[in-house]
Amino acid sequence: MEYKKDTICVQGGYRPASGESRIPPIVQSTTFFYDSTQGMADLFDLKADGYFYTRLANPTVAAFEGKVAALEGGVAAIGCASGMSASTMMAFTLCGEGDNIVSSSAIYGGTFNLFAVTLPKLGIETRFFDPDAPAEEIEKLIDDKTKLVFTETVANPSIKILDFDKIAAICKKHQVLFAVDNTLATPILCRPIEWGANIVVHSSSKYLDGHAAALGGVIVDGGNFNFKGNPRYPSFNVPDESYHGLVYADLPAAQFATKCRAQIIRDMGAIMSPQNAFLSWLGCDTLALRMERHSSNAAKVAAYLANHPKIDWVWHASLPDNKYHKLAQKYLPDGQGGMLSFGIKGDVKKAATFMEALKMVTQETHVADVRSCVLHPASTTHRQLTKEELEQAGVPENLVRLSVGIENPDDIIADLEQALAKI
Ligand SMILES: *Cc1c(COP(=O)(O)O)cnc(C)c1O
Repeated sequence: MEYKKDTICVQGGYRPASGESRIPPIVQSTTFFYDSTQGMADLFDLKADGYFYTRLANPTVAAFEGKVAALEGGVAAIGCASGMSASTMMAFTLCGEGDNIVSSSAIYGGTFNLFAVTLPKLGIETRFFDPDAPAEEIEKLIDDKTKLVFTETVANPSIKILDFDKIAAICKKHQVLFAVDNTLATPILCRPIEWGANIVVHSSSKYLDGHAAALGGVIVDGGNFNFKGNPRYPSFNVPDESYHGLVYADLPAAQFATKCRAQIIRDMGAIMSPQNAFLSWLGCDTLALRMERHSSNAAKVAAYLANHPKIDWVWHASLPDNKYHKLAQKYLPDGQGGMLSFGIKGDVKKAATFMEALKMVTQETHVADVRSCVLHPASTTHRQLTKEELEQAGVPENLVRLSVGIENPDDIIADLEQALAKI
């Protein structure tokens, strides 16, 4: 039976047998015992399902993977050490030297750095596009070495909303894989696979955990991409000599996830720990409720700031005059999430004065947990950039990024109000 998303939040990923613990135990063990040699051999050959070493799979991590896969409507998921390792493992599953990624430029700073600086050192190039550019312009970047097109549902910190139909049509036409970072929307607000994405990645350190307790990442396999015979993906169509000559494209299901786990995770080991999987699994129990509250709180805060005389501009797709309002109504109709950005009138110093005057809302390098927090990118995450580079990156120097928590909205607004009064 297919459950609704809020039901999956509490029921997904784990079902105890009679007499077992109701929620997943933390299986804090590197390894697993077998009494038969053949039994273990079958596991190694992927002929049987089971656990033999936690670098490859672990029951607590599997519970979390199962819940996220079900929430996203995918066929399998892989828990990773962090959101960054999820994107890195995804890229290595598809790309080798000489290949390229076509990526939106409106993406998380860490992912931008991975694609623009680190992967090129290994011979993997990235071609960036403006997600608002017309399809013809984006399409021109794709060649026969392009292994994926990468985007974010809700971009951080520019809060742009992705036009899924535009990107999905390009990917379909060129038979290239469509990957989406769905961290800031979560499957509660948007399920990219339903809009044509093939792979979804998450930093579960954000809303999925939701409590700023556990770093983690997830890769979800949509199971909806045709690798078989696709000349773009030889590594899926020729035998993997490092895995008994397995041809991933011949597998009946989860071809991407199997290659990612059996080849890349095996060799690189960037796995999620059982403890972090437990916390993230637990966090997801309340994801649907929290996303509703994050979204309604952010919409109220955005409306308040939009009418404030000391505020220059506010970006949140709930605002009717926001550039992405229409796209949000189509792709995130039930709420646009808790992330918003705004500009304070005046120079950079005013932004700093405002931030320091906040009493409840804290300054942090984090977003998307239950507590409201702010960050001034121009003086922190983006401080190495010049004023011009900041503009180019869509991060004006007066931009304040606010991650709206689930406190009472009146208290959040009152704190902003008293801090704005000080500038
Ligand atoms: C935080 C974040 C990441 C990186 O995740 P970590 O868990 O910090 O490694 C990737 N994408 C988005 C959109 C993020 O917000």
